[in-house]
Amino acid sequence: MLKRNIKRHIVIIGGGVIGCLSAIVLHKKGAHVTLVERAEIGAESSWAGGGVLLPLLPWHYSAPVNTLALAGAKLYPMLAEELLASTGIDIEYTVSGLRVLPPFDSSLSKQWCAENGLTAETDGDTLWLPDVAQVRNPRLMQALKRWLELNDVATVKAEITPITSNKNRVTQLSISQGEIISCDQVVISAGAWSQALLGDYALDLELKPMRGQMLLYQQPVGLLREILYCDDFYLIPRRDGHILAGSTVEDVGFDKTTTTTAAETLHQKALKLLPALADCSAIQHWSGLRPGSPDNIPVIQRHPQLENVWLNTGHFRYGVTMAPAAAEILAQLLLEKI
Ligand SMILES: Cc1cc2nc3c(=O)[nH]c(=O)nc-3n(C[C@H](O)[C@H](O)[C@H](O)COP(=O)(O)OP(=O)(O)OC[C@H]3O[C@@H](n4cnc5c(N)ncnc54)[C@H](O)[C@@H]3O)c2cc1C
Repeated sequence: MLKRNIKRHIVIIGGGVIGCLSAIVLHKKGAHVTLVERAEIGAESSWAGGGVLLPLLPWHYSAPVNTLALAGAKLYPMLAEELLASTGIDIEYTVSGLRVLPPFDSSLSKQWCAENGLTAETDGDTLWLPDVAQVRNPRLMQALKRWLELNDVATVKAEITPITSNKNRVTQLSISQGEIISCDQVVISAGAWSQALLGDYALDLELKPMRGQMLLYQQPVGLLREILYCDDFYLIPRRDGHILAGSTVEDVGFDKTTTTTAAETLHQKALKLLPALADCSAIQHWSGLRPGSPDNIPVIQRHPQLENVWLNTGHFRYGVTMAPAAAEILAQLLLEKI
């Protein structure tokens, strides 16, 4: 595609996977972009997740969730190659497959897989999905950040205060120290904090933080090669022997505390799936705040009242999977209108 020379200034608020990929796609299409992040780029939910590139389990979700997730997952092999070539960082895109253990609805799952082109094989009492892939979240976020640096996309470390409007437009964004950033277009991709950032303009959005806690184990390379899933719990093997166990889904507000109850529950579930973990304890325990949305359906659209404000948020449990496709949709909608 020919690069357009778009001089108008697009400010993207939030440096998670959604904000970073939105910035990259818009920059590639010729836009003048600034990414504003209040802390470190990629240090919130996008860092904390499992990186599985498929909804768990997709047959329990609606078509909008799965369509966006499948479209995003499809873009990852190319994205991984591009990031490796341009930044030297390997995001560890790995087709490790996903094994679903009972209980699951055998006929519904097979029918969904057949209709959506996902290979599914019955193996004993388990369902084997060999094409399911994963990425390593911290590496993904490092690579996206490096890409932005290498391509001279401006990033500003500042916290934007809830937006205010001059009639039906936002022309200035305030940052905490009383300074302002001028903008022609604004993208809200502040994850779990998007609703607070919109302030009086949150309308009927129902976005809220949903805490997820995760444990990390270090094991010999190859002990586990596939993602295991049972009853809303999973084990994810990384290439270097790390195994992630997760996760909780907790409606506790903006509280990132980790709890001993969750650690114990996750550890017991991990042992049940992989008894070899019996002699070891987790080496790390963390939590992240997912941008929760009703039915896990994100909001990717122009703000209904503010004509130069765009929303790309609320990706809830599958924002890493959805991000490349969500960024393309956002960029297309936005660039059509300016
Ligand atoms: C435990 C766990 C497991 C997960 N597993 C998976 C998985 O396997 N697969 C998958 O696809 N997804 C998974 N997810 C979900 C996924 O991580 C999220 O959907 C995704 O990261 C959301 O990205 P985001 O960019 O919207 O939010 P975030 O990564 O949270 O980024 C938002 C950013 O906005 C910044 N910000 C907020 N307010 C302001 C402000 N006022 N001014 C400036 N900056 C601001 C924040 O500091 C933050 O960096 C998981 C999440 C968790 C917590």
